[in-house]
Amino acid sequence: MRYTSTRDNSVSVQSAQGILTGLSPDGGLFVPQSFPALDFSTLMQSNYEEIAYEVLSAFLPEYDRVFLRDAINTAYGDNFGGKASYMAQVENNVYALELWHGPTAAFKDYALQLMPRLLVQAREMLGETDETMILVATSGDTGSAALAGYSGLPGLSIAAFYPHGGVSALQQLQMTTQPAANVAAYAVRGNFDDAQRGVKAAFTSDVLRQALKAKNRKLSSANSINLGRLVPQIVYYATSYLLLCRQGAAAYGQPIDYCVPTGNFGDILAGWYAKQMGLPVGRLVCAANQNNVLADFLDTGRYNAKRAFYVTSSPSMDILVSSNLERLLWHVTGGDARTRGWMAQLAEDGGYTVDDGTLAAIRETFVSGWAAEADVTREMAERYRAGYLCDPHTAVAFCVQKAFAQKERPMVVLSTASPYKFCGKVLGALGLKAVQDPFDAMDALAAATGTTVPANLAALRGRPVRFGEVISPEEILSIPLRM
Ligand SMILES: *Cc1c(COP(=O)(O)O)cnc(C)c1O
Repeated sequence: MRYTSTRDNSVSVQSAQGILTGLSPDGGLFVPQSFPALDFSTLMQSNYEEIAYEVLSAFLPEYDRVFLRDAINTAYGDNFGGKASYMAQVENNVYALELWHGPTAAFKDYALQLMPRLLVQAREMLGETDETMILVATSGDTGSAALAGYSGLPGLSIAAFYPHGGVSALQQLQMTTQPAANVAAYAVRGNFDDAQRGVKAAFTSDVLRQALKAKNRKLSSANSINLGRLVPQIVYYATSYLLLCRQGAAAYGQPIDYCVPTGNFGDILAGWYAKQMGLPVGRLVCAANQNNVLADFLDTGRYNAKRAFYVTSSPSMDILVSSNLERLLWHVTGGDARTRGWMAQLAEDGGYTVDDGTLAAIRETFVSGWAAEADVTREMAERYRAGYLCDPHTAVAFCVQKAFAQKERPMVVLSTASPYKFCGKVLGALGLKAVQDPFDAMDALAAATGTTVPANLAALRGRPVRFGEVISPEEILSIPLRM
């Protein structure tokens, strides 16, 4: 199987090449030219690692099979404390798929515990001798998960760029206390989109590329635009589906709906990829926060990024340009030139409108809604009183799923972060006293709710802070040269 670019169908690369370069030189995203089919019903008795192996080997055919098995076992075994596919039932036919039992307590660990290993292997397969420098724009969770995933790996270095003042105290510490020599973190003045734009500018700068070449360095990306991020996320749609079948909540073949708190559209797109492979996914509910550009798009076909930007309690969804939507557009239009045109309009005018046929094709699977801040806060409180403690991102999804849940059909809400990553917001929502110190806040939440602080978060206490530089989005261009 080969991958092409959403902006130039003459591009054709193998998975290792796509993972190593991240973004196609024309600015497009790598997409599979066709979807491998998998009969998931044969995996009913398989565990997380076995299902991951089937999915990944379908998308990464050139990778050595023994390597893949090892990488998967290392990424998902003990790392997730045996809870890689843990699901809690929260209502009749409503489930929370808890994707936060990994090292940094957010769902991004699923991709970022595996992708760095795929990248090291890709370097070997392609005979790459230049140092690979990863640049990653983050609204909080990607940066912490990426720095953790890449720390200490040979031949690679990584810099994470987060919006100054736009991430939680704990997320910031997860990044700024990373001890490995090959990682760095920078605060960027502006919001996530400013940081993402700065990183994209670095990727498309010929001047920078030449200057790095002289130092035997090459850039790559760990953002969810990298196909190595996308593919591992397909796995938990499959494991959760099969788990519900095993529990008797669904018969294999019956559609199960998923509600996904969405920002850059990577997580939910993996659900659509799972469906294209043959998993009987029903509807994909795209849940947005007050930055509801995606909800508007799915309602009207008009993508309008020129709008007010809100800093919300779910910062990983505070995004106005959802990069992975480009992939969906390319797939549903049959890979023609429309996607490229829309992306050009987005870059020039801050928006575009898709034709009715394209919107209808998207709406065959996707529905959407959004939640205002007050509703998210209330949802956290009500959900807790009903027996389930969740973080603000997950609460957005719990709000939105209400309009789409059907009695006879299981609804799986993707719970994307541990409530302990966003203690301040959670304590506030529960009507508990604010606690300044992020570690005391976690202890307070544990004491008040009878839940436990994730060990990986507690372990950050007392670690020295290594990074604190604040830069402008334009300065991102200069970082790879001075790292
Ligand atoms: C990144 C993130 C999201 C959004 O996921 P996308 O793939 O960007 O749509 C939602 N919740 C949490 C906690 C996240 O870290």
